[in-house]
Amino acid sequence: MPLIILTGYPTSGKTHRARQIHTYIKERISSLPESHPASTQRVHLVSDHTLSIPREVYNLESKDQHERSNNASEKDARATIYGAVKRLLSNRDIVILDGANYIKGWRYQLYCEAKAVRTTHCVVHVGTPVSQARGVNDERLAAAKTASSSGEDDTRSEEELPYESGCWENLVFRYEEPNAMARWDSPLFTVLWDDPTPPCDAIWDELVGSDAEGGKKVV
Ligand code: ADP
Ligand code: MG
Repeated sequence: MPLIILTGYPTSGKTHRARQIHTYIKERISSLPESHPASTQRVHLVSDHTLSIPREVYNLESKDQHERSNNASEKDARATIYGAVKRLLSNRDIVILDGANYIKGWRYQLYCEAKAVRTTHCVVHVGTPVSQARGVNDERLAAAKTASSSGEDDTRSEEELPYESGCWENLVFRYEEPNAMARWDSPLFTVLWDDPTPPCDAIWDELVGSDAEGGKKVV
């Protein structure tokens, strides 16, 4: 079943939104009658975190050429993510891909993968302004500094750690905005910082079809 691709700046709230979509879809499936074709769907949340990909792969500045070729690189990370999506995506599975997904060629590749298994896909743009997202990272950097200067153990999970400032700016600089006119970015849903939730009903109807229709076919 469908592939839902999150996209947005670092610390824009992608993980928060991916979790909301995940919860919504699980609840929606469990409320379907057994006769509904989507009632046996499984939902998977895939992210760097679930695949144990460390933040450092996005850190271009601290690596020289030699280190980059030997260490896990962003390219390797993408191969891991691609493998996971390919393995999970089927006509019985909904995959939510939580990540920056900031390269349009990469989103095109994911779109082709959905087409290859004859399922629907959509892009959810977490449209948090740069200044707001930067503020979240700056707060995390400040908290990490306080923790290290007071000798406290940092108990935050990898997902809650800040990006190094240069790495964060670099990811924003390289970010390729989704474009609803491009077929790989369409349908495109946008969620803004102040929205309580992403437009989950619309996402479901677009990808799975309204409950009365009994599921959507891909053409
Ligand atoms: P990302 O996955 O894009 O790096 P996160 O989802 O981890 O970002 O969010 C970063 C921080 O901002 C988290 O502490 C999260 O709880 C908070 N946050 C994210 N989106 C919102 C929002 N719309 N309103 C309030 N806080 C938010
Ligand atoms: Mg995240």
